Amino acid sequence: MTPKNIKKIDRRGLLLVLSSPSGAGKSTLSRLLLDQDKNITLSVSMTTRKPRTGEVDGVDYNFVTKAEFEALVAEDGFLEYAKVFDNDYGTPAAPVELAMKEGRDVLFDIDWQGTQQLTQKVAKDLVRVFILPPSKDELERRLKERAQDSAEVVAKRMSKASEEISHWDGYDYIIVNDDLDKAEQQLFSILQAERLNRERQTGLVSFVHKIIGEG
Ligand code: 5GP
Repeated sequence: MTPKNIKKIDRRGLLLVLSSPSGAGKSTLSRLLLDQDKNITLSVSMTTRKPRTGEVDGVDYNFVTKAEFEALVAEDGFLEYAKVFDNDYGTPAAPVELAMKEGRDVLFDIDWQGTQQLTQKVAKDLVRVFILPPSKDELERRLKERAQDSAEVVAKRMSKASEEISHWDGYDYIIVNDDLDKAEQQLFSILQAERLNRERQTGLVSFVHKIIGEG
């Protein structure tokens, strides 16, 4: 039985980055994690790409014009930004800073370029996870299954996939997604373990002092 008077130990929020080539299951895994764990929120990126069917402005992305995107670049309002498949994508800094201040964790679905920029800016708070498909054939099959993009876009993404995968070694954890349930468990375990990192648990000093009677 858990005693009722245990106080939650303060901790600093972490920034969990998920990257993968399209078709490795990253969006599905992000959704599962967000549904399961209420202490982590998605960083909603800004993009100049047109919305796909079913995508909701302000939920999946903030869909903006090139001029709106460039205005935020000029204001230095992005934590990171990059061009991916001819469109601009970026992480607005303000919501992330607020979440960190409030001790909430933030999930990023961004590419390797954005991950490199975050590594330069906020390395200490970063947990970088790369999702690999189980094989090239499976990646191809998953990309074709996505009916939303034209054949031309699928071909382009397939060729881009190897480029994205070549940056796998810039990540802390690698998950091979051959079984969704297993991959979900592995991602969840990474998050749980990283939350217990000593330096992230900013309330530990006073907690321990109370236990040993020095508080
Ligand atoms: P999609 O157009 O399929 O939603 O995303 C294409 C790629 O852009 C994905 O690899 C996704 O992770 C990446 N991406 C989405 N938002 C951002 C962002 O804010 N910054 C960066 N660097 N990449 C992003």
